[in-house]
Amino acid sequence: MDFQLSEEQRAIQTMVRDFAEKEIAPRANAIDQSDQFPADVFEKLGKQGLLGLPYPETYGGGGADTLAQALAVEEISRVSGSVGLTYAAHLSLGCGPLYLFGTEAQKREWLTPLARGDALGALALTEAQSGSDLAGSVATTATLDGDAWIINGSKMYVTSGAVARSITTLCVTDRTQGHRGLSMILVPRDAPGLVIGKVEEKMGLHGSLTTQVFFEDCRVPKANLLGGLGAGFKQAMITLDGGRIGIGAMSLGLGRAALEASVRYAQERKAFGKPIADFQAIQWMIADSAVELEAARLLVWKAAHLKDTQQNFSHAAAMAKLFASEAADRACWKAIQVHGGGGYLRDFPVERFYRDNRLTLIGEGTSEILRLIIARAILRERN
Ligand SMILES: Cc1cc2nc3c(=O)[nH]c(=O)nc-3n(C[C@H](O)[C@H](O)[C@H](O)COP(=O)(O)OP(=O)(O)OC[C@H]3O[C@@H](n4cnc5c(N)ncnc54)[C@H](O)[C@@H]3O)c2cc1C
Repeated sequence: MDFQLSEEQRAIQTMVRDFAEKEIAPRANAIDQSDQFPADVFEKLGKQGLLGLPYPETYGGGGADTLAQALAVEEISRVSGSVGLTYAAHLSLGCGPLYLFGTEAQKREWLTPLARGDALGALALTEAQSGSDLAGSVATTATLDGDAWIINGSKMYVTSGAVARSITTLCVTDRTQGHRGLSMILVPRDAPGLVIGKVEEKMGLHGSLTTQVFFEDCRVPKANLLGGLGAGFKQAMITLDGGRIGIGAMSLGLGRAALEASVRYAQERKAFGKPIADFQAIQWMIADSAVELEAARLLVWKAAHLKDTQQNFSHAAAMAKLFASEAADRACWKAIQVHGGGGYLRDFPVERFYRDNRLTLIGEGTSEILRLIIARAILRERN
C-alpha cells in the first residue's frame, strides 16, 4: 500500500490550503456571525479552477481525482464549515448527477457552466415528509404535457438552492412503480413556476444557504429528464455514495481545525503554575482526537481511492462518513473542553467548529442510516 500523495495531489492540497488561509480564514467568523452567503469567495474559487476540480477538462473541470477533491474539501472546511459544505455539495450534489447521468448535450449545457466556475448547482431530494426514507415517500410529481414536464410539490433543505443555476430534482413520474417510478429532472433557475422559499435559520453553517423550494406547475423541457425514466432513486443513491466521501472530508477539516486550536490553546493557557498541556488529562484528549482523525482520514482516502480505481466504494464511503463525522464531533467536543469557559464563548472558533460539524452526522445519510447500510452489507455477505 502506498500512503503517499502524488505530486499533483500535494500541489492541489497546498494551493487550496494557501487559498483558504488567505481568502476565507480571515472572514470565517464574520461569515458565521452575519449569516451572509459569501458569493465573492465562490467567484474566486471558480477563478482558481476549484469549482470543477474532479471533472474532465472538456467540461471546464480540473481533471483531478476524488482524492484531490477530498483534500480540497478538507482544507476549505478547516477554515470554514459554511464554505466547505457549499463547496462539497456543489461538487458532489450539484455537478455529480449531471456528470454521471447526463447526456453529452446536458453535460455541455448544464455541467460545463458549473465546472467552469460560473455558477453553483444543487440537488433536491429531501421533502418535509421524505428524508431517510426517500424510496417510499417522495411526493413531488412530474407529469408530461406535450414537450414539457409539469412539476408540482416542494423540497426542503436544498443546499445553495437559492443561488444555484440548476436544481436537479427527484420526482415521482409513475406512482404505480414504487421507487422505480422516481426520476431526476433538471430544473433551471428561471423555470416558470419554480419558487425559492425562505432560507432556513440553522445551528451552524450560517454562510451556507439551505432553502425550501416550491414547484407550482413548474414547466421544464421534456429533454431535462436526467438519464432514464424511473432511474432517479438509483441515481440518488449513487450520488450520495460519492457525496459521503465529501462530507467525510468536511469532517476531517473541522476536526483538524478543532485539534489544532486545542494544541495551541493547551500550550498557551496556564493553570496551577504550568501550561495545561502538561496535564495528562489534556494530553489524552489531544492524543485521542489525533488518533481518531488519522483513522478517519485513512477511511476517507480509502473510499476515494476505491472510487478513483473504479471499484465498488459504496460500503467504504458509508464507513468513512460515519466514522469521520463522529470522530470530528468528538474532537470538537474535546476542543471546547480544552478551552474551558473560553470554549463556550464566541471569542474562540471551537464552538463554531462544533456547531458546523454537527450537520455531518445528519446530511447525506444520518449516522443511523449509515449503520443500517453497513450492517446490511455485512449480514448479506455472511449469508
Ligand atoms: C444543512 C443541511 C443541508 C442539507 N442539504 C441537502 C441538500 O442539498 N439536498 C437534499 O436533498 N437534502 C439536504 N439535506 C437533508 C438531509 O439529507 C436530511 O435531513 C437527512 O437525510 C435526514 O432526513 P430527515 O431530516 O427527514 O430525518 P428523518 O429521516 O426524519 O430522520 C429522523 C431520525 O430518525 C432516524 N431514522 C429514520 N429512519 C430510520 C431507520 N430506518 N432506522 C433507524 N433510524 C432511523 C434518523 O437517523 C434520524 O435520527 C440537508 C440537511 C441539512 C440540515
